[in-house]
Amino acid sequence: MDAKFISRGQLPEWLRSLAARFAVLAPARAGSSVIYRPVDPEAPPRQPELAVKPTESAKRALFPLSEALLTFVKNQPDGKPGLELRETPPPRPCLVFGLPSCDARGFLVFDPVYAGSGTAGKFQDNYYLRRREQAVLIVKTCPRPLSTCFCNWVGGGPASTEGADVLATELKDGLVLEALTGKGARVLDSALLRPAADEQLTAAAQSRAASEAAMPPPVDISGCARALRGKFDSAGFWQGHSAGCLSCGACTCLCPTCYCFDLSDEERGSRGVRLRSWDSCMLPLFTQETGGHNPRAAKAARLRNRISHKFSFYPDLHPSLPGQDGHIACCGCGRCIRSCPSAVDIRRIVTEALGTAAEGAE
Ligand code: SF4
Ligand code: SF4
Repeated sequence: MDAKFISRGQLPEWLRSLAARFAVLAPARAGSSVIYRPVDPEAPPRQPELAVKPTESAKRALFPLSEALLTFVKNQPDGKPGLELRETPPPRPCLVFGLPSCDARGFLVFDPVYAGSGTAGKFQDNYYLRRREQAVLIVKTCPRPLSTCFCNWVGGGPASTEGADVLATELKDGLVLEALTGKGARVLDSALLRPAADEQLTAAAQSRAASEAAMPPPVDISGCARALRGKFDSAGFWQGHSAGCLSCGACTCLCPTCYCFDLSDEERGSRGVRLRSWDSCMLPLFTQETGGHNPRAAKAARLRNRISHKFSFYPDLHPSLPGQDGHIACCGCGRCIRSCPSAVDIRRIVTEALGTAAEGAE
C-alpha cells in the first residue's frame, strides 16, 4: 500500500482539500480540552492539535450525540387526519483525522451491535452502517502513553492499525501517512503529498517502536468475564467501588465503546422529528420504568452493569471475536479514569475482581 509524507506546513491545506469531499473532523483546542472540530474549507487553514490526546473520543463521527432519524407531519393539509413520515437526507461521508488507535478500535465494538451480527443482534442499523461504510479513519500513533492508558491490556497498542484506513506517524517536520485500505489509499492521492522516502519510513517505524516500548507491560486480565460473573452478587464490592460516584455520566459520554441511546419525538404544531440521542447507563433514569420501578436505582448496580457489560456480558455475547474471553468492549483509552471527578478506576475494579494487583492503576 502507498506511503506518503506531508509537511507540517501543508497539513492544514490538505485537510481543507479533503473537506471538499468529506465532513472532516480533526482535533482542536477548546479551553483546557481537545475535541474533534469540523474542518471548514472556507475558513483560514488551522493546524490540528496533535500534541495532546483528545479529551473526547471520536465516536460522534459515526454516532452523533443527537441525530434526526426521521421527520413527521401529523394531519394532512387537506384537513384529513394522517401521519406522513419523511426520511432524513443521507449524511456526508466523514473523515476523522488524528484519532488515536484506541478510538479506531472502539468502532470494532460498535460494529457487531449495529450490523446485527453475533449472538446479540438480528437487526441492522442503517443510520450507523451508512456512515461506517463511507468513513475514512486516519489514526495517529500515540507518541507517549498517559498514566491512564491501558490499551495493551485489551489487545491494542499505541500504533495499532485495527479498524483504521491510514496510519499517521509524526516526524519532526511532518507526518508519514501509510494507507491500510483502499479508502485510505484514495485520500492519499493528492498533489500536496509526496511519496515517503526510505529514511522517513525508517524514522516512522522507529517512532512506533519507541511508542510501543514506552507502554508499561500489560496486566493479564484473561478470565475477567468469569471473575466479574463471580462478583455479581457481591454488594460490598460494588458499593465500595461506586461510593464516590456522582452519577455524572462523563465516563460513558467520553467512552469510545459506549453505544447506548434513547429515542424521543420532538413536536411543534403538526410537525415533528424523531431524535436518537446518547444515553448513559450511569444515569439514574436510564432504567426508570413507567410504573416507577427502577431495577438499577442504586449507583452500585449501575457501576456493576457498566463494568460487567464491557468485560463480561459483551465478551459472552461475542465469543467468536478476538480476545481471550471474546471481544472485550473496552479499548483501554483511559478516558473514564482521567475524567472521572471521583477517581473511579476501571482497571482497579477489573483487577480486584480477578484478585490481581493493577500495577498501572493509580
Ligand atoms: S465519571 Fe465517575 S463519577 Fe461520573 S458517572 Fe462515571 S464513575 Fe461516576
Ligand atoms: S471503559 Fe473507559 S478505558 Fe474503556 S474504552 Fe471506555 S472510556 Fe476507554
